[in-house]
Amino acid sequence: MKTVGLFFGTFNPIHLGHLAIANFFSENKALQEVWLVVSPQSPFKQKQTLIENHHRLAMVKLAINGNPKLKVCTEEFNLPSPNYTIDSLQHLKKKYPNDQFTLILGQDNIVHFDRWKSYEQILDQFQIFVYPRSKSDEIPSKLLNHPNITYFDASLLEVSATEIRKGLKQNEVVAKWLPNGVDAYLKNNTLTDL
Ligand code: ATP
Repeated sequence: MKTVGLFFGTFNPIHLGHLAIANFFSENKALQEVWLVVSPQSPFKQKQTLIENHHRLAMVKLAINGNPKLKVCTEEFNLPSPNYTIDSLQHLKKKYPNDQFTLILGQDNIVHFDRWKSYEQILDQFQIFVYPRSKSDEIPSKLLNHPNITYFDASLLEVSATEIRKGLKQNEVVAKWLPNGVDAYLKNNTLTDL
């Protein structure tokens, strides 16, 4: 059996904030690997700014290069849209019956977690590791004290993909927020006018 932390995101594009979280959990002894699950499209986000799947995937690969505990997972590309986390988790469980999956979520996601599809089933069947986010409302007490949810004190890098996309469009220097190779990839593939 292998223990795997799942970090879901559109990674549009992947930035150092994402990578810091992935690295932080890759050092946790409870997890042998951390998979960055690249989502094709969130039902709550606008489509027009989403970089093509293969480009986002290529940039995640560049970012994780160098940490053998980090892997990329493209399973959501093959699932019907919209991708609800419970469906992706069930799919992964079926496909990798020998792996044990833990969900990695930001505190902002846990605040509204009880609105997620089949959230009780997720809580029953999976461990959830939560990291802090600066702008986050209070966590409902039933989730704060839940036995399957563990809260971690990961340090945060305040950067968002939205800001990076805006910076790229305005020709600002955004390389300092990006993992090695990602800035060059965006420029070489003319992905700066999003
Ligand atoms: P956008 O700005 O396009 O909405 P995002 O970076 O917030 O992008 P995703 O790529 O889907 O969105 O991020 C994956 C997960 O990482 C999300 O749950 C998101 O909340 C979280 N995340 C985003 N930025 C950071 C950061 N700086 N530090 C830690 N977690 C982050």
